[in-house]
Amino acid sequence: QAKLKGRAQICGYEPAMQTQLSWRLEMEQALRRALSEDQLSIALQPQLDEQERIIGAEALMRWKHPRHGSVSPEVFIAIAEESDLIVELETWMLDRCCKLLAHLPVAVLPRLSVNISVRHFSQPGFVEGLTWVTGTHGIDPARLMVELTESIMIDGLQDAVERMRALKRLGVKLALDDFGTGFSSLAYLKSLPLDELKIDRSFVSNLDTDGNDAAIVETVLAMAQHLGIDVVAEGVENRAQQEYLLARGCRLFQGYLFYQPMSVEAFEELLTGSEVETEVGEG
Ligand code: C2E
Ligand code: MG
Ligand code: MG
Ligand code: MG
Repeated sequence: QAKLKGRAQICGYEPAMQTQLSWRLEMEQALRRALSEDQLSIALQPQLDEQERIIGAEALMRWKHPRHGSVSPEVFIAIAEESDLIVELETWMLDRCCKLLAHLPVAVLPRLSVNISVRHFSQPGFVEGLTWVTGTHGIDPARLMVELTESIMIDGLQDAVERMRALKRLGVKLALDDFGTGFSSLAYLKSLPLDELKIDRSFVSNLDTDGNDAAIVETVLAMAQHLGIDVVAEGVENRAQQEYLLARGCRLFQGYLFYQPMSVEAFEELLTGSEVETEVGEG
């Protein structure tokens, strides 16, 4: 009877699991084709300083599935991360970003931030790949900000620190993304060779309503200042949030208040437009 019951249970779960599994498999296969079939693109979201000048942008991957339309990166990145497919996708991304940096003078676009998955970051050839791609496009690696999440510490702090140091030797900049959502603590911060910390938008969005989030943000800003690490506030959506952050020493901003992620063409237009304005103003 136990056996029967067990089987009934399995049967009960099977359809749903089967559907989910085949859906993921189908998506993974479609994603493998996406690269060669030109379905991937890059969205750029400007990053601003305290005077609201554009100092860089974050590159975000976009996928338009031929039948399902736009798939959220939260969904397809997770699928890609289950295999080395993520390495392929991010290698493509890095190439495109370096190409854009080579195309735009440093005065127009100082830097670009690229998200790198822990799986890619942990690959033996990652540093070599970055050396190659920056070299091929002839760009200064210091214009590339590599965004990592706290999950890089999954194999231990020491491993992560060593890999990060190798990247620093190449000259690229390092940011810790979504700070506050992972399992790491403030105590780790001082051991990591970081240039930048990105406060997760879940904290920023509740600044005005949640005293705890406000306290966390204030503490992170004070600590980063002490350690000499820049802080980017993610997901700034209104002036009240911007002012709270400015008052506590945050100098870099990214969010819908300023710009939503946009196409590369729109971004270039935005930059060239402001470049022309500057020239007119100075001349
Ligand atoms: P992320 O790296 O934390 O990127 C910021 C996300 O916040 C982006 O979502 C952006 O559109 C969104 N955002 C920015 N400002 C605002 C705001 O004011 N309000 C709201 N509601 N959202 C805002 P997106 O583009 O959907 O990307 C989601 C996540 O997907 C990224 O979060 C990143 O973790 C991942 N992702 C995207 N591209 C890549 C990639 O090439 N590699 C890896 N490993 N992950 C990627
Ligand atoms: Mg990011
Ligand atoms: Mg983030
Ligand atoms: Mg995120």
